[in-house]
Amino acid sequence: MAERAIPTDDELKQKLTPLQYEVTQRAGTERAFSGAYWDVKDPGTYHCIVCDEALFSSETKYDSGSGWPSFTEAMDPAKVTLKEDRSHGMVRTEAECASCGAHLGHVFPDGPGPTGDRFCMNSASLDLKPS
Ligand SMILES: [Zn+2]
Repeated sequence: MAERAIPTDDELKQKLTPLQYEVTQRAGTERAFSGAYWDVKDPGTYHCIVCDEALFSSETKYDSGSGWPSFTEAMDPAKVTLKEDRSHGMVRTEAECASCGAHLGHVFPDGPGPTGDRFCMNSASLDLKPS
């Protein structure tokens, strides 16, 4: 696989929409039911909007009712970094792209799959490539 260059901050401001920048670079959250993918069921692969790494498969996507695209697991656990997030007076698990550090969303322990995880992601962090 080819090495992917991580864009500079200026390049990111050019490349991303203001919302995509806010979410991925400042750990923002899009409004529920506002994103491009919360209700999408098309088959394909969800890539990182910043570095294009393949992160989630539509096969693990499900309707969580949250208004954000939700997955039971990452395509490869090594591609998504999980870390403790104590912002906003809560203790949550933050999910980042392991390749470029883009904020993706949070992981909650109430998923329906065998792992019990719910990857609650922002549409603004993802780019769906249809299969
Ligand atoms: Zn990335």
